[in-house]
Amino acid sequence: MNNHIQGIGMTSQRTRDRLVQRLRDEGIRNERVLQVMRTTPRHLFIDEALAHRAYEDTALPIGQGQTISQPYIVARMTEILVENGIPDKVLEVGTGSGYQSAVLARLVPRVYTVERINALLARARECHRALRLHNIYAKHSDGSWGWPENAPYPAIMVTAAPQHVPDSLLEQLSVGGRMVIPVGTSTSGTQKLKLITRTAGGFEEQTLNAVHFVPLLDGSVR
Ligand code: SAH
Repeated sequence: MNNHIQGIGMTSQRTRDRLVQRLRDEGIRNERVLQVMRTTPRHLFIDEALAHRAYEDTALPIGQGQTISQPYIVARMTEILVENGIPDKVLEVGTGSGYQSAVLARLVPRVYTVERINALLARARECHRALRLHNIYAKHSDGSWGWPENAPYPAIMVTAAPQHVPDSLLEQLSVGGRMVIPVGTSTSGTQKLKLITRTAGGFEEQTLNAVHFVPLLDGSVR
């Protein structure tokens, strides 16, 4: 790998190792998830001016009013999604920088990801290409509708918060499948991460951490 991908100084392997130690201290236990986070260069997914902050455990702006999620949240949501074993595919709603999809792509055979802002999607695709992650399929669309052509999904991860879980996403979840999704408004402090499991008879819902995601918005833009 070249220096840009590998990283030097504040984007070096040592800096990533420190982040992974912090994730362990914060309670992330899945060794495969930790290993993937140790070796995925988050700085590539961030504007160069902010790259020196890539391995702080914080969300950062990625343009268009959007953010790359905090590493702890990426690790936690991934860990929850694969808790009962590695699914054969996953649908992500809200590609953003493409970092979360890159982490998923190194654990799961096929990653489908949908983003409503085309400019972000184009950048994310470039990063995936640079890292040779050829198992990520990305689409420009309103992800509230899911990606029905490849449904059902044993795992769905939503990285922008709706007020209510979209019905299309529930419909596209396999029986036995798991969806992690933030629900509610961040500013009122009532946004919660939920784990929804589809059973033979319906859906089970568990409420997890309080979180701060950008809102899930309607429609798609250039
Ligand atoms: N997973 C991302 C987090 C990005 S923030 C990462 O790793 O960087 C959430 C993203 O969801 C934003 O890019 C936003 O544009 C996108 N988004 C919001 N509403 C959406 C919708 N209805 N469909 C698809 N993407 C949406």
